[in-house]
Amino acid sequence: MRESLRRSLPLNTRQLLYGSKAKHLYKSFSNLKVTIICGFVTIVVLRGTIGAGSFRLSFPDPSEHHEETAVHKRKDPSRILAAYTQEIVENPEPEWDPKTPYSLGPKISDWNEQRASWLSKNPHMSATVNGKPRILLVTGSQPKPCDNPAGDHYLLKSLKNKIDYCRLHGIEIFFNMAFLDPQMTSFWAKLPLVRKLMLAHPEVEWIWWMDSDAMFTDMVFELPMEKYKDKNFILHGWDQAVYNEKNWIGLNTGVFLLRNCQWSLDILDAWATMGPKGTIRLEAGKLLTKTLKGRPEFEADDQSALVYLLTTKRDEWGDKVFLESSYYLHGYWVILVEKYEEMMEKHHPGLGDDRWPFVTHFVGCKPCGIHGVYPVERCLNQMERAFNFADNQILQMYGFQHRRLGNTEVKRTRNDTTHPLEVEDNLKLLHASFKTSSSVAL
Ligand code: UDP
Ligand code: MN
Repeated sequence: MRESLRRSLPLNTRQLLYGSKAKHLYKSFSNLKVTIICGFVTIVVLRGTIGAGSFRLSFPDPSEHHEETAVHKRKDPSRILAAYTQEIVENPEPEWDPKTPYSLGPKISDWNEQRASWLSKNPHMSATVNGKPRILLVTGSQPKPCDNPAGDHYLLKSLKNKIDYCRLHGIEIFFNMAFLDPQMTSFWAKLPLVRKLMLAHPEVEWIWWMDSDAMFTDMVFELPMEKYKDKNFILHGWDQAVYNEKNWIGLNTGVFLLRNCQWSLDILDAWATMGPKGTIRLEAGKLLTKTLKGRPEFEADDQSALVYLLTTKRDEWGDKVFLESSYYLHGYWVILVEKYEEMMEKHHPGLGDDRWPFVTHFVGCKPCGIHGVYPVERCLNQMERAFNFADNQILQMYGFQHRRLGNTEVKRTRNDTTHPLEVEDNLKLLHASFKTSSSVAL
């Protein structure tokens, strides 16, 4: 991965600057101007840390025939990447004035009516697909490269894992890498994103948020949506731990489903009040630590804020919230990852619970950052194992399997035949009933 990156970056830039097609000449010239300005700023910014001799690595001269040699002189690959992500903010967005109440967006009070009206005018965009509610799985990561390049590799693996699950189960997927609201950074970024997607996609019944450090480990298990027909907000958790103990880990906001409706817009507004970065978030953090069980001292996070909201205003919100614990909508990695081999011996996918967890979430790992609670090596090793545990369920459809969970190598589990259509995958995922039901319904 790093090797290919090293080779491709200077070439791509050269193509961008000096593309041969005439119709792109003007655009290329504009790009060149922008690039020169960016280059100048990059030079000023990086001069102290990289040294003058390395700049051509970032913005290669087309007459330079020694990029490869030049690239190999480079000491730290992450520096080149950093040089490519320097930006000039020409028209910064106006700053939010902390004296005014924070809001995720213009107040909407009739979303159910607006949405229903849109759906009736656009019958081809039904909120159900084959009798099931339309779901959009949403995940995301920071716009910049990870501090640790291995973090980017695991973001990719985690995304592949989600694409696989969504393809098999007819779920749409959206990956966000932009901060939509400068106030709502880090774990708060999901709130404005979820709201924006709800409003832009009235055809979607449920937004399913999933952290980038969570992976599907059961590719067969399906959400029991019927069970949630009278609920609007589904999270992994326990009523007792949230409402009685006020425990800050009584629920987990790394994976949740939120119905596209007015109630959800309202709870997003109520939930967001502790989010704006700076004084508000810091002061709210103190209140949360004082009020909630087991919470360490740090700025307000979305999870504690939700526990606080539900415990202080249960009458207002509790009714439509479902705290799920009958399967792992979110599964804490520490208690699961060492047991994968045992699960493979004793059980089979499709169960979603202790026997075969639906989701394994690497809470506290921060694989893309440097400030995780757990040693990064342990996290990355276990993420590799979780990925392969899940990937085996994909590969078995094609007659392959990872040699070991900690290993990227695969082996054949059956020989190719002259009648490939007669071969059945053990999990029946290739032509699963939830996939073929679409043709029946049509
Ligand atoms: N995230 C994001 N943009 C960012 C930082 C984080 O979209 O700039 C998302 C990412 O999907 C990440 C999630 O926010 O998984 C929550 O953070 P994290 O998983 O590190 O928190 P933890 O689960 O460890 O509490
Ligand atoms: Mn997470």
